[in-house]
Amino acid sequence: MEKKPFVTKEQIEEIVKTYPTPFHIYDEKGIRENVKKMREAFSWNKGFREYFAVKATPNPFLINILKEYDCGVDCSSMTELYMADKLGFSADKMPNGIMFSSNATPAEEFIYAKKLGAIINLDDFTHIDFLEKTAGIPERICCRFNPGGMFKISTTIMDNPGDAKYGMTKEQLFEAYKVLKEKGVKEFGLHAFLASNTVTNDYYPTLAKVLFEVAVELKEKVGISLSFINLSGGVGIAYRPEQEANDIMAIGEGVHKVFDEVLVPAGLGDVAIYTELGRFMMGPYGALVTKAVHEKHIYKEYIGCDACACNLMRPAMYGAYHHITVLGKENEPCDHKYDVTGSLCENNDKFAIDRMLPKIDIGDYLFIHDAGAHGFAMGYNYNGKLWSAELLLKEDGSVKMIRRAETIQDYLATFDFCDIFK
Ligand SMILES: *Cc1c(COP(=O)(O)O)cnc(C)c1O
Repeated sequence: MEKKPFVTKEQIEEIVKTYPTPFHIYDEKGIRENVKKMREAFSWNKGFREYFAVKATPNPFLINILKEYDCGVDCSSMTELYMADKLGFSADKMPNGIMFSSNATPAEEFIYAKKLGAIINLDDFTHIDFLEKTAGIPERICCRFNPGGMFKISTTIMDNPGDAKYGMTKEQLFEAYKVLKEKGVKEFGLHAFLASNTVTNDYYPTLAKVLFEVAVELKEKVGISLSFINLSGGVGIAYRPEQEANDIMAIGEGVHKVFDEVLVPAGLGDVAIYTELGRFMMGPYGALVTKAVHEKHIYKEYIGCDACACNLMRPAMYGAYHHITVLGKENEPCDHKYDVTGSLCENNDKFAIDRMLPKIDIGDYLFIHDAGAHGFAMGYNYNGKLWSAELLLKEDGSVKMIRRAETIQDYLATFDFCDIFK
């Protein structure tokens, strides 16, 4: 699939007059079209709800767009719960509810989550006791399942749950529901996250089958009927041009088919399907825009940018591929091989290694694709680098700043007890 930027060079030249590079920019039109399609894909399920994974793109302005489409939020920490609360998500504000999927959870986070009426997703059997002694057991709860072993789709290994820290074993899971039922829980859910960034329409249906079969067994052996099944995150995006993007309509239909095959005959046709997608909801609709400020010719050819791994960590951290378009040179041949770098004192600070691109001139703007999820969010301050601004390209073509760039004073704010920085 050809990867096309959602802004032109001319637009960026206008934008930088107000907001200098580097910055993250998001495409409101793309976000809205995608969430609409997502809802349509699961509209066969009466209770369907997407709980957007806040950690992917924790910007209130973007979360508010999803809120218009009846999304809830999935939080993983105190700060995310606080943001959800301030944005008006809560149990009483359905459809805009809160899931709280966390692990190694501090007591105060359970207490706050329960106060907000969030659905607590228990990561471990021992958390039942912990929760009871801290926040108390709520009437509605979710349990996280880890089936262990390798997670395969036909013969392809997708991921290795047996090596993941999340969730409960099957034995623990069944025991957990028994104990929770005895403790007065009235509404139950089941959750699992077995593979990340899957680029196949079969992930959700395969995962759904595993969870639906557990639901049937739970009904038979423990006598509880789940009210929701949470397929969590993991539906990926096509970072590489040669990949074929997921088709959410086909994914929704795939889950529908398994639902009709497994849950409906077992009398569980009322189960609501929940999702907690992050990457799929925002990834393609955000980009990091940076300017080429240096070129260097040593044993290799380097282009030095004004952004660095602090703005987008995925290439440095996972060797992840992010497509790069040199704005204004979309139709020029990719006949130059570059390492595209930031300025950190770290040799892994490279957005691309040995990448074939058009000839880059100093001052060119690079559009680094698919940075809308787990992009800005994974930023950090190494080398005293400051967080960039986030901008929203609105549907009418105007640009709105949705987070200002950090300043040196922000960076030093936690030294505000020291006279020298006052
Ligand atoms: C990270 C995470 C998500 C979102 O994952 P994506 O890959 O962005 O879809 C959802 N649920 C939980 C529990 C997570 O940890």
